Amino acid sequence: MYNIIPVHALNDNYIWIIKAHNGSDCICIDPGEADPVKKFLDENNLTLSSILITHHHFDHTAGINDLYKQYSPKIFVPNKSIHAKAYLVSDNDKVTIDKPSLSFQVLSIPGHTLDHVAYVIDKNIFTGDTLFSAGCGKIFEGTYEMMYNSLKIITSFPDEYKIFCGHEYTKNNLEFASKIDVNNSMITSKLKEICAIGENLVTLPSTIGIEKQINPFLRCNNSDIIQNVQNFCHNTLQDPVEVFKNIRKLKDKF
Ligand SMILES: [Zn+2]
Repeated sequence: MYNIIPVHALNDNYIWIIKAHNGSDCICIDPGEADPVKKFLDENNLTLSSILITHHHFDHTAGINDLYKQYSPKIFVPNKSIHAKAYLVSDNDKVTIDKPSLSFQVLSIPGHTLDHVAYVIDKNIFTGDTLFSAGCGKIFEGTYEMMYNSLKIITSFPDEYKIFCGHEYTKNNLEFASKIDVNNSMITSKLKEICAIGENLVTLPSTIGIEKQINPFLRCNNSDIIQNVQNFCHNTLQDPVEVFKNIRKLKDKF
């Protein structure tokens, strides 16, 4: 058994640490900074055996070199340019770690970047900057259709699967969602719930089941949402990818 612990980094990034109940080895996912990870490891008398990376962006990788110098972890990346000593992973690979004993399935989910992957372990999915709670990542390198299909891959898992994403964007995402999915009372109550937690909140993990109810990017077939988006963009939208594209463009300007 293991715990999954969020460590805050940079402005709003999460570095996820997986620590087994027994033993002092742990792993981390997307260390955008080394210092918060070192601090956590020091405070808990832990060492770092492996690093998993979801995509090449600096705010997910900048801590690798420092952590490598201190702990010499194995590094798993979806893009060889991220680190010279890393192991390359690709779609459907299995990443097996000895200490702690963990096994991840790799899923290729391009869109935010072309190299983006998710890591799945048991009923937990690390989605990086692809699926956020109530939102999704910006499309920097891929196409809207790629991103739409990548979100479909993630949400093909059962409703109880947990979502661990790379940023704390939930409040802003819900505020946007409330403008697109205006009659959705789940969004209103989630927003209230989050505002009640206050600053420095951790709103994650979410679940696939919750996201299907509150995330407008996963609800492109919903007739209310389609109507609202059509009103915003003054156009008739023919298919869900077009709806998705227009929601994403509206969010980019939000
Ligand atoms: Zn990114």
